[in-house]
Amino acid sequence: MESQHPSLDRRRFLALGAAAHALAASKVGAQEHEAARDRPTLVGSANALPGMKQVWESFAAGGDLLDTILSVVKVAEADPKDHSVGLGGLPDEDGHVTLDAAIMHGPTHNSGAVGCIENILHPCEVARLVMERTDHCLLVGPGAYRFARAHGHPHTELLTDEARAIWMAWKERMSDRDDRLAPAQDDKDGRLYDLHGEKVSLDALIKDRAVTGTIHCSGLSTRGEVACTTTTSGLSFKIPGRVGDSPIVGAGLYCDQEAGSAGATGRGEAAILANTSFAIVELLRQGKAPVDAGLEVLRRVARQAARAAKWQAALVDEEGKPAFGLTLYILGLDGTTAGVTLRGHGRYAVSDTQGGPRLADLVPLYE
Ligand code: ASP
Repeated sequence: MESQHPSLDRRRFLALGAAAHALAASKVGAQEHEAARDRPTLVGSANALPGMKQVWESFAAGGDLLDTILSVVKVAEADPKDHSVGLGGLPDEDGHVTLDAAIMHGPTHNSGAVGCIENILHPCEVARLVMERTDHCLLVGPGAYRFARAHGHPHTELLTDEARAIWMAWKERMSDRDDRLAPAQDDKDGRLYDLHGEKVSLDALIKDRAVTGTIHCSGLSTRGEVACTTTTSGLSFKIPGRVGDSPIVGAGLYCDQEAGSAGATGRGEAAILANTSFAIVELLRQGKAPVDAGLEVLRRVARQAARAAKWQAALVDEEGKPAFGLTLYILGLDGTTAGVTLRGHGRYAVSDTQGGPRLADLVPLYE
């Protein structure tokens, strides 16, 4: 007899589904275990390196995949000097630090995310709670905050003095048609700020809103499981309420136990419009090498930007190439990795049994 109680049916369905998932995952794991045992791998943005160094030994010895990738990104979330993530992240145009984060787990093909959450130090952990303790994929704003508090996450002030000063400098210099004035001695003390591991002046920091960031980490465990996480304070000085690609499954991150894992940092709108991470994983599924999959998606992004420039000219430079940054991190099921970027000579973080945690060169689409 059919139950009259839809939620009971649903619960039963979910329980059966979970059991089936666990069985499928253990089969996948069993098949891949042999091949994966010797190649645990982590790949991510350059700012993932400090976290990778902390977890590598235990991960390589068989440590839990989700715990590991979260531990990697939590280091940046708690670092007040990283102005692109968590504590010390640059705020929106009103001075509110709002965070986006997501996690995705290959063996159960499940994900969780939070968007525009405030006053929570570790949004990546809240994303995991959304994945494991709700039937949803994404919670946003005050609801996400209350959910985090209900699970015991403390209320934390995330706007550091330094981030507040940078935000105020941006506000004061934004326009000469409003009433805010920069101090006469502004930036004359030569003080330098951290930007992606480099020291830059206040001018450089706020020029063109140079602070973009985010941290991504994808992992392949010794059991052959893939998973990924991305966490960010998003675009600096954004319009309040803006959510970027980082908590959007398929855009800022994606993994599939049958194909691999990928993540993005940089212009979130471009990652959303191209569904970058999903697109990469689909190319991996077709047998492309990580670097080729990444470059193919970047070429697609470049073509899309050229079309979008018809209404937003600033998206491309004088040669018609994207004027923004976008970097993609890719992990194949065989432990091969790549980092690709639209232009320039950046680095990404990788750790495998060949070399342990280290930085490697990104492959640029354009020099
Ligand atoms: N992708 C992030 C966002 O658009 C920002 C970044 O990575 O720089 O929110």
